[in-house]
Amino acid sequence: MAERLPPVDALLVGFGWTGAILGQELTDAGLNVLALERGAWRDTPTDFAPTFAQDELRYYFRHELFERLSHETLTVRNNIGQTALPMRQLGSFLPGSNVGGAGVHWNGQTWRFLPSDFVAHSHNLQRYGKLQQDMTIQDWGVSYDELEPHYDRFEYICGISGQAGNLRGAIQAGGNPFEGPRARPYPNPPMAMSYPPTLFAEAARSLGYKPFPQPSANMSQAYTNPLGVQLGPCTYCGFCEKFGCGNYSKATAQTTILPVLMRKPNFTLRTESEVLKINLDSTGKRAVSVTYVDAAGREYEQPADLIVLTAYILHNVRLLLLSGIGKPYDPVAGTGVVGRNYAYQITSSVNVFYDDKLLNPFIGAGAHGMLIDEFNGDNFDHSGLGFIGGGFIGIVQTGGRPIEMHATPEGTPKWGSAFKKAIARNYLRSTSVVTHGAVMSHRGNYLDLDPTYRDVYGRPLLRMTFDFTDNEHKMSDYLTDKATDLAKAMKPREIKVNKRQGSWDVVPYQTTHNTGGAVMGTDPSTSVVNRYLQSWDVSNLFVLGSGAFPQNPGYNPTGTVAALAYWAADAIRTRYLKAPGPLA
Ligand SMILES: Cc1cc2nc3c(=O)[nH]c(=O)nc-3n(C[C@H](O)[C@H](O)[C@H](O)COP(=O)(O)OP(=O)(O)OC[C@H]3O[C@@H](n4cnc5c(N)ncnc54)[C@H](O)[C@@H]3O)c2cc1C
Ligand code: SF4
Repeated sequence: MAERLPPVDALLVGFGWTGAILGQELTDAGLNVLALERGAWRDTPTDFAPTFAQDELRYYFRHELFERLSHETLTVRNNIGQTALPMRQLGSFLPGSNVGGAGVHWNGQTWRFLPSDFVAHSHNLQRYGKLQQDMTIQDWGVSYDELEPHYDRFEYICGISGQAGNLRGAIQAGGNPFEGPRARPYPNPPMAMSYPPTLFAEAARSLGYKPFPQPSANMSQAYTNPLGVQLGPCTYCGFCEKFGCGNYSKATAQTTILPVLMRKPNFTLRTESEVLKINLDSTGKRAVSVTYVDAAGREYEQPADLIVLTAYILHNVRLLLLSGIGKPYDPVAGTGVVGRNYAYQITSSVNVFYDDKLLNPFIGAGAHGMLIDEFNGDNFDHSGLGFIGGGFIGIVQTGGRPIEMHATPEGTPKWGSAFKKAIARNYLRSTSVVTHGAVMSHRGNYLDLDPTYRDVYGRPLLRMTFDFTDNEHKMSDYLTDKATDLAKAMKPREIKVNKRQGSWDVVPYQTTHNTGGAVMGTDPSTSVVNRYLQSWDVSNLFVLGSGAFPQNPGYNPTGTVAALAYWAADAIRTRYLKAPGPLA
């Protein structure tokens, strides 16, 4: 029997990026806020000290920072004709756990989506006349202009280093000319550029493109954010992507918001508290509490007036399904909404090998590179190409971590002395041009509850049914061909082209950019939440995170995840608290 606890005004389920943002905003509005985080407390001095933060075996290969699959995992399959099996080892994506969530080990590549991304359905239909038959893409119900102040807010909280490309409609030299208009420049200048991104930028310019520096949550200089929290300059240590920063140089919840939030008397964080279910009243239209268990296995019922799911897309969607909130999606009938429009991203690369250039790959940071955006979104004419969508192309030099990074040329054996010789020859002399592409939503790609496999509490695991379609393969091949041209223009000794072929494979790491399943929109028959991320069915429940994306654009998601979090928080503060009830 669960012990019933005293009620709180607002309850956050999960305490990563979106949890920290909502915690700060809702306590500012005067609410008593409680965050329940399934993992433990984690902070820079105790967990990412520079003396051991770079332990590649411990952190990346033994997964210390990531979700523990022995506790909770998901099952995966490529299509409904297959039986899904549990993911017993992390691979394709790396969900976070503990305070800070995946925001601790993210890279910091911090983008805004294109204005046309938010109206993908109507825009593509208008420009190209028709869409691939099984595509279920949608407009978001929110526009770029509405989100602009909220993007700006996150960029200044994080101290993003970058070069504006479009200031109030005026295109700026050296920035991304395709971005939507921004009200003011980035708070920090771009990062200093190392050799490989510089070579890429020269090659891109020689082909007539307009390269620009990756907008980065790694600090180009010391910075104090609007909350008064200080970050230090990045040392380009190269153990950033998939690692915590020991240097206070990567914007995370811990380095930007928590120093202020944790001191507030109206905020409480309870760690090692895993939420199992959202409980509804007898009408089924109001959330009254959550049930959670602590580390000792004790069960509690925590009542709250307002509940916000901030547990990452996969856990948010699973909690909705386990709690019976919203109609589960049925891919055969094409009805229901929860789990609908799950999407991912598609990446590829071209390795570049030199003899005459020392590239020092170990100098790097999670979001340190030069890119082009000519082939992203609808920045180019897709007529006759047979696909929609696109992605960015460039070199992001994240660091030459010795176990993970050892590109070798075509034909090199996978082990033995020839393998070692090839690594010794190429480690300092190789780099990689990457493509990072969108995935549209399709009728057959979705999330639901697995009929067979259960977690430690006996609850069904989440089941993911996903594969790349013809649209994604054609688009990725197109981007890879452009990347190949760029790699050749860098005048290397040789290149190796790594196309993304065949079905989606759960084994190799690709991106942790899962989207959909709790999508936003203006029509309750095709979305789980309204344009303020408020549940259509239960108006005192908000569902944050990339689950709200109706499809997955060609950029990294967190800039938009955070902008949507500020947008939802603003709606709660300025409208919902004055008159609790449906906002749309
Ligand atoms: C290696 C890596 C690199 C990345 N790089 C980038 C990048 O460069 N740019 C970018 O835009 N994005 C990047 N991302 C993605 C980024 O980390 C996420 O978009 C972001 O962290 C999502 O924020 P969130 O609040 O939705 O989830 P999270 O930050 O993951 O927080 C969710 C929290 O909820 C907790 N939780 C889950 N279930 C429960 C439950 N039942 N009860 C209680 N607590 C629960 C989790 O433990 C976790 O702490 C990267 C991710 C990874 C893994
Ligand atoms: S590269 Fe910079 S931001 Fe990243 S972990 Fe190292 S010091 Fe921190």
